[in-house]
Amino acid sequence: MKILVINCGSSSLKYQLFDMDTNEVMAKGLVERIGIEGSNLQHSPAGRDKIVFEQPLANHDEAIKLVMDKLVDPEAGVISDLSEINGVGHRVLHGSKYFSNSVVVDADALETMKKCIPLGPLHMPPNIMGIEACEKLMPGVPNVAVFDTAFHQTMPPKAYMYALPYEYYEKYDVRRYGFHGTSHKFVTQRAIAMLGGKAEGTKIITCHLGNGSSIAAVKDGKVVDTTMGLTPLAGFEMGTRCGDIDPAIVPFLMKNENLTPDEIDNIMNKKSGILGVTGRSSDFRDVEEGMNEGDERCKLALDMFRYQIAKFIGSYYVALGGCDAVVFTAGIGENNSGHRAAICEYLKCFGLEIDPELNSQRGKELDFAAPDSKIRALLIPTNEELMIAQDTMELIG
Ligand code: AMP
Repeated sequence: MKILVINCGSSSLKYQLFDMDTNEVMAKGLVERIGIEGSNLQHSPAGRDKIVFEQPLANHDEAIKLVMDKLVDPEAGVISDLSEINGVGHRVLHGSKYFSNSVVVDADALETMKKCIPLGPLHMPPNIMGIEACEKLMPGVPNVAVFDTAFHQTMPPKAYMYALPYEYYEKYDVRRYGFHGTSHKFVTQRAIAMLGGKAEGTKIITCHLGNGSSIAAVKDGKVVDTTMGLTPLAGFEMGTRCGDIDPAIVPFLMKNENLTPDEIDNIMNKKSGILGVTGRSSDFRDVEEGMNEGDERCKLALDMFRYQIAKFIGSYYVALGGCDAVVFTAGIGENNSGHRAAICEYLKCFGLEIDPELNSQRGKELDFAAPDSKIRALLIPTNEELMIAQDTMELIG
């Protein structure tokens, strides 16, 4: 079975074609600048060099058509006919309260997805456009929507409600949803396999630490709490996002700096986090380099990051009533042994002890806790695209 995975942004599109018999990627690529001058497709067939095609692409229909042409191209292609593709899995940002699982897209599902647009006004329209383009270009091939919020839908009301007037929940669905659900689900499944294979009875804390970061508390394989909220701005310090702050800071800054709602939103999403604190970079590698050169603000930004993460893990230990394993994944979680060690240092009070030798490894599944540690420390590389492909395969049978 072959599954195409598509992630449509407003002017970009990422894709991977999976052979589900081996879980291997046959080809992957990226279309950039859709609808903007300079559109191009960077196509990488497995085991071969990347090929760049430059041509005007007015919209997502044209972008997906170009991807399909290249997948069957005699030279750049990896399949001989599009009929070899059994299904298409789409990454969709927001499923609101409507979707607690991935879904085969039909007219009803599409209508419901359109109701989620107010909660993800930037991402939802291109996500939906990608599905509609595939329906048009590959008639009869099922499309599956996989929502970033879905895995968190098992949270109880005490975890997802905000203490605002109840009418805003009723009127606008203002509540915690959580994001990175596909990644948290993938690493949860792998962690359960590493812990013995039975979800029942497990208490796991999954830390997705990348440019955007979130943590989830997972009991019996189901999320009971997570750090991101109505939007991905909530939680702890990220590359450019501030995470949780005193909400009164928002009107304070708006008044004193004479800012509009869009301007303060932009500051909190794009100019804060480690970029805002250091004034140097949103990339954790650059900030670490700064810290090693003696830049105090780089050290401060990284100290804040580690401390805030440890505090959330501590609170989730309480929410879960204990913890069997803390999982580290995504760009920073998978690659940076220094952050893992520093975060785990705070967790010694719970009986988590790491093996520094094992922790020095990276990029592969690994339990780096010391043999007598009361909590396992797991490094699990995430694979959101494979998770989307697996959900798609399961749903289309
Ligand atoms: P992601 O959003 O998961 O792609 O993660 C991006 C973040 O991971 C960036 O801030 C990078 O600095 C960080 N990252 C990626 N590779 C490494 C690495 N080898 N060492 C440290 N940090 C890394």
